[in-house]
Amino acid sequence: MPTTLENRCDTCDVHGRRKPLQKCAGCGISRYCSKECQKKDWVVHKIACQMNTLYVDMLKHQDSTPMGRMLCAGLPDDLTMHELDNRLAKWVRFHTTNLVIACFIAIRINDDLDNCNKEVLYISVRPRPQSEHEGYPGKYFAIKDAYPVNIQTTMHWPMPWPPTLLQLQEVQRARESEGRGRVAGYIISLRPSTVDHSPNRESIRHS
Ligand SMILES: [Zn+2]
Ligand SMILES: [Zn+2]
Repeated sequence: MPTTLENRCDTCDVHGRRKPLQKCAGCGISRYCSKECQKKDWVVHKIACQMNTLYVDMLKHQDSTPMGRMLCAGLPDDLTMHELDNRLAKWVRFHTTNLVIACFIAIRINDDLDNCNKEVLYISVRPRPQSEHEGYPGKYFAIKDAYPVNIQTTMHWPMPWPPTLLQLQEVQRARESEGRGRVAGYIISLRPSTVDHSPNRESIRHS
């Protein structure tokens, strides 16, 4: 495993220090070291990419409505939902290595590699105010709870769980069939608005 995963190509794991990475023009989330790597990943990434874009548009629209502004009432730092979503993406990227390691330990990947396809690490977070994060993206959120959950069980949880997990399984199938190894997932829940799942920042988010 590379020592840091925060700034690597989503297809080939080349690190941004070796080769500058370009963000996906669609969603601005996935990153690639080359056009070839972007093309290779597109089969798996395209649905998540479209859903990310739709979700961001929906958040921006919602923030401009009176109802949307009411939803922001409980957020720290006068954040809008769109800004909150942005912060979560930065926080996830900052902590990717730790999140992946936590995931491996939580689903006991050393005991059985098949656990990747049976469980995900569920992580619930809360946004922290300026007085706590002091402008550092790594401190934007505090973890409230984290535990492994069974994928089949969570398929019966309310939205957005089923589509999020189906998306993860799609990524797992595609990677395995291409011989690119197994994929373990973690899912971050920021109630009531956002769910983010890795690998690949292939996020599916719903309000
Ligand atoms: Zn690459
Ligand atoms: Zn994209």
